[in-house]
Amino acid sequence: MSAGEAPSIFTRIILGEVPSHRVFENAHVFAFLDINPLALGHTLVVPKREVERLEALPEEEAAAIGAALGRIARAVLETVGAQDYNVLQNNGPTAGQVVRHVHFHIIPRRAGDGLGYRWNTKQADAGELAELAAKIAARLAEGA
Ligand code: 5GP
Repeated sequence: MSAGEAPSIFTRIILGEVPSHRVFENAHVFAFLDINPLALGHTLVVPKREVERLEALPEEEAAAIGAALGRIARAVLETVGAQDYNVLQNNGPTAGQVVRHVHFHIIPRRAGDGLGYRWNTKQADAGELAELAAKIAARLAEGA
């Protein structure tokens, strides 16, 4: 959050200003049921720090989210009796992000639930892939 900006709805939930159905909390992570669930058990896992996008989240907090996600997913699945799930994480309006506070959706899946999951893929050119991978790897090697 930048100076002068209103806190996100998720910050207000974490602070207890807005009610939520909390399922997990530790020093860095807060998880609660989505108010408009795609499926029974649809859960949001968020960092307590209000950061808009995943790549801006400090490493320790990202690690805490990563460690919690699988645990929370297992508990959600066992509770609602689903076997499969999607983890969805949107960054930026083009990617469908509505709430500007990093969040991971855990969406339990059942056969015939009608939610769908296929995106429109393209055929890749092997040369282009090799060039692209080398460029990204170089950026990472430079410490990006
Ligand atoms: P996004 O589209 O940004 O990836 O997802 C935002 C999610 O936050 C949506 O699934 C929406 O239902 C959920 N959401 C928005 N406001 C609230 C709220 O006040 N309480 C809860 N529990 N979920 C919310």
